[in-house]
Amino acid sequence: MLSWDDEPPKAQAHGKRVNADDKRIINAKTDVNQLVPFKYKWAWDKYLAGCANHWMPQEVNMQRDIELWKNPNGLTEDERRIVKRNLGFFVTADSLAANNIVLGTYRHITAPECRQYLLRQAFEEAIHTHAYQYIVESLGLDEREIFNAYNEIPSIRDKDQFLIPFIEVINDPTFHTGTLENDQKLLRSIIVFACLMEGLFFYVGFTQILALGRQNKMTGAAEQYQYILRDESMHCNFGIDLINTIKMENPQLWTAEFREEIKGLFLKAVDLEYRYAEDTMPRGVLGLNAAMFKGYLRFIANRRAVQIGLDALFPNEENPFPWMSEMIDLKKERNFFETRVTEYQGSAALQWD
Ligand code: FE
Repeated sequence: MLSWDDEPPKAQAHGKRVNADDKRIINAKTDVNQLVPFKYKWAWDKYLAGCANHWMPQEVNMQRDIELWKNPNGLTEDERRIVKRNLGFFVTADSLAANNIVLGTYRHITAPECRQYLLRQAFEEAIHTHAYQYIVESLGLDEREIFNAYNEIPSIRDKDQFLIPFIEVINDPTFHTGTLENDQKLLRSIIVFACLMEGLFFYVGFTQILALGRQNKMTGAAEQYQYILRDESMHCNFGIDLINTIKMENPQLWTAEFREEIKGLFLKAVDLEYRYAEDTMPRGVLGLNAAMFKGYLRFIANRRAVQIGLDALFPNEENPFPWMSEMIDLKKERNFFETRVTEYQGSAALQWD
């Protein structure tokens, strides 16, 4: 009979202590329940940074936006089109993102530090969907029209239809990593999600709403988009670190054929986002026009490509919107549009009585 001391430690999935060196981003043999010892410190640091950036939509005062929206002379028709198209894309985009993380990516990532960040990211996607819903409700927009835009507006539907196959493949409950083919499917899906969805498809919309805010219009919405942009640029950077670490640990996945295919997806995504820019800006508006976005999207696509170790797709493109970089670098203590009514408070502010 076994004595107590001889009994195998049932609580540990793999029965032995984890060595950091044995951890892997995918297909690890180590226990996914043991966060430490750390190996992927960059993922943990991004988790902490995400928490430090915490915000909630209802902290932003929407009163000025509501007055402007209800005033028949408050905004031009083209400006209203931008706001409605924007919300039409984003109200469902962050739900797609959240579902992709929770039902897909999370299951296949075997590094607990990265899972910890993905849990934080999933909550941030929920906050973003909440923010868009809060704007729709504050402005009294037709919610059925806005939430159905991804079925009804071709320039939005086409972007989502491009993304959905890459989401579905890893969300399929019968999908498992562990073969060259499936590991490439996962890597491809993460590249599409991080570099093209969060890293490219969000940027026409972000730029438009922040341009409205810079002209002192829809400043509450712009404030929220600014916090969302800050979160999303972290999501994108986490995704890029994840991609590069998977590549480093599994160099056999990064074949010439695979790289060519990824390049083709980048080109397709730039084209779809450009068509979205044309649809949302049939004429010049707010000092912006669709043609300027052609340069901007090429500039961003170059940066994403280089970040994951591909050659720039459109050499020598310059950033036509340098002010966007300032928006991304928003520091917590700096409130650009100054509409936020409360600062997020740490535990020191809690009272128990
Ligand atoms: Fe995101």
